Amino acid sequence: MNSQLEVHKVTVRYGAFTAVEDVSLTLEKGQIGCLLGPSGCGKTTLLRAIAGFERVAEGSIALHGSVLSTPRQQVAAEQRKVGMVFQDFALFPHLNVRRNIAFGLSHLDRRARRARVEEMLALVSLTDYAQAYPHELSGGQQQRVALARALAPNPEILLLDEPFSSLDSELREQLAGEVRELLKQNGVTAILVTHDQHEAFAMADRVSLLHRGRIAQSDTPYNLYHNPANEFVAEFIGHGSMVSATVDAGGELSQGLGSLDRSHGHWEPGEHLRLLVRPDDVEYEENSRTRLRVVGKAFRGASYFYDLLLPDGQRVPCLTPSHIDVPLGGELPIRFNLQHVVVFAPPRERTAD
Ligand code: ATP
Repeated sequence: MNSQLEVHKVTVRYGAFTAVEDVSLTLEKGQIGCLLGPSGCGKTTLLRAIAGFERVAEGSIALHGSVLSTPRQQVAAEQRKVGMVFQDFALFPHLNVRRNIAFGLSHLDRRARRARVEEMLALVSLTDYAQAYPHELSGGQQQRVALARALAPNPEILLLDEPFSSLDSELREQLAGEVRELLKQNGVTAILVTHDQHEAFAMADRVSLLHRGRIAQSDTPYNLYHNPANEFVAEFIGHGSMVSATVDAGGELSQGLGSLDRSHGHWEPGEHLRLLVRPDDVEYEENSRTRLRVVGKAFRGASYFYDLLLPDGQRVPCLTPSHIDVPLGGELPIRFNLQHVVVFAPPRERTAD
């Protein structure tokens, strides 16, 4: 067991309810993982089990080679070398920045404590704010104090529970990127919990997408997007639509979708396919004869996000520059570019090509 964190077949129950089931994941030293998923999928429960706040009903959790949780043995939360950053930062309002950061360092003598606090202040670029109180700081600054406080005792792993969710949405992705840099530069192993995939992608090396307490896919952000393991992952990641289509005698897909290239496999006429169509698979093309009705439209500044109707009533998304302004009910000329589309095979045995 060389991994920094090893979660092995963990199940967590609340009475008769199973919140996390048979979950395994590992993180190497310095890796950043993410538990991503919709509300209620078990992210926080798993994080709390790693922190030592919930018992495991089955499986085990080990940190840096020491087993911390099994159904029979539970190392207390305060004895685990785990740092936590919470959604609301949980700073002490009556302590200034320096004293907030020093909070978990009572085991050090005064000089060592002072040196460590200075180091942490510099790490999060808050040396000039050492005397400030939390209410005098911006949300982003408070979050950096929380981070410095969690990192000060030099934990084996940092657990971040929705650390950006109380911040402005504009700021979130930027901060996630900044925090990633900081953790990477310092070789900190960390796990982030979030329901926001942009945050997950901006920060994590590996993302575990949870669905009803189980891992739907654990992978790099790139693979989650481009090679989703199942339809749940496909629909959760990115803004795609699952579209059903049939292959005709000439190899063309119904609904005017066009044809798939050979890299997607060989499909027999009459076969029913499920395609994950993402906005980047539907391109605006001024002179196209394929025109789809606009049934939804959202202004995104630089772009419009359109919801378009296929002939049989299914919907596909399309992103255009925002000067392409077609009213609701109007028709948008488009071209399908199915090169990168994700195809889900019908439930029968297939050959790859
Ligand atoms: P959110 O994003 O909404 O915080 P989550 O993915 O973090 O959701 P959890 O908080 O882990 O989800 O909850 C998973 C499931 O366990 C939910 O159905 C929740 O209602 C249930 N649950 C959580 N805590 C308890 C508890 N203390 N007692 C009973 N059930 C609980």
